Amino acid sequence: MSEGLEAAIVEAVGRVVGAARRPTALHEPSMGEAERNAVADCVSSGWVSYGGPQVGAFERRLAELTGATDAVALVSGTAALHLALALLGVRAGDEVLMPSLTFVGTANAAAHAAAVPHFVDSAPDRPGLCPDALARRLAEIAAPGPDGPVNTETGRRIAALVVVHVFGHPADMAPLLRIAEAWGIPVVEDAAESLGSRIGGIHTGMLGCIGMLSFNGNKIVTTGGGGALISADASLIARARHLSTTAKRPHAWAYEHDAVAYNYRLPALNAALGLAQLDRLDDALAAKRHLAAHYREVFAEIEGVRFLEEPSGTTSNYWLNAILLDRPDTTARDQILSRLHAAGFLARPAWLPMHHLPMYRDAPRGPLPGTEEAHGRLINLPSSPFLAGNPA
Ligand SMILES: *Cc1c(COP(=O)(O)O)cnc(C)c1O
Repeated sequence: MSEGLEAAIVEAVGRVVGAARRPTALHEPSMGEAERNAVADCVSSGWVSYGGPQVGAFERRLAELTGATDAVALVSGTAALHLALALLGVRAGDEVLMPSLTFVGTANAAAHAAAVPHFVDSAPDRPGLCPDALARRLAEIAAPGPDGPVNTETGRRIAALVVVHVFGHPADMAPLLRIAEAWGIPVVEDAAESLGSRIGGIHTGMLGCIGMLSFNGNKIVTTGGGGALISADASLIARARHLSTTAKRPHAWAYEHDAVAYNYRLPALNAALGLAQLDRLDDALAAKRHLAAHYREVFAEIEGVRFLEEPSGTTSNYWLNAILLDRPDTTARDQILSRLHAAGFLARPAWLPMHHLPMYRDAPRGPLPGTEEAHGRLINLPSSPFLAGNPA
């Protein structure tokens, strides 16, 4: 890989990021007076745990924004995903289909449910999950069973499919949903990165049975740490709310619980911060589209690399901008990354695929050539909304 390409990439990022301070983080939260006041008011009110009005208000705003019938706010995206799997009936020893190219929280959630992740391939130019790879994998290893399809190689039930909207770019949901439906596999959408991203006008997370959002500090809206479940199925969310609050039956004083459950409810302090953050979402989405357009423009001129575009028919929140090298080459990628870091741009590669991690190395998986390729080609670039409008 040429010295020329490295220099061109550093120069291009510099043109987009302009005068913003160095080092320039990958994604920083934007917070101000409104967030400070919201949290201070919450402290003054004494309602800091989930009993306060902030949690319900935050949940209603999320439902409005996503078109969900209801939403439940939880302590993290990982907790939300764990709860979603439990709600859909994932049991100990089941398998959960998912991409290997994802944040570790996706796989951990399956492990928390005592299930086993089963990795399926992704396409480099449309990370998320490849419908053809899913169809091929199921045709190869699955057979209908009494209670959903069974992996004939492991004897385990295939209990759910988790689709991830990687970097905010919507996955190819229509064919994925068709395949899942044909096999009778319930679909969870990991929309942790895709708040504001839509497919033909429908918010990501609202196409499968249930969708998960994350409000971790690096996401487009943060509650410090937090997550949520959204769905058109109000009874599923009601059940999630019950299980997230120790399955305590509503009563003025009695402590009675009717299931083994979780302490996963988002505290009001975090919800208050989230409410203030949601007021910024439209501006953040506009800024991020502006930033993405600028990256697209500067990288259009560079040979050897291209900007990862939102898939046609979708609107991405461009949570993390990404470029793809023409060829997978982790040595060249790392040279580019070290040049970017030396210049103060905290770029990073895609996650190390899950099947390379020690705890998931032996998990079942199909062939993963697209995942390996994506890992060798992808670089994420600084994407904070405030970077838009920093002319060079
Ligand atoms: C952030 C993230 C999660 C987990 O969310 P947390 O709130 O950090 O637990 C899960 N999946 C993906 C793809 C993510 O980016």
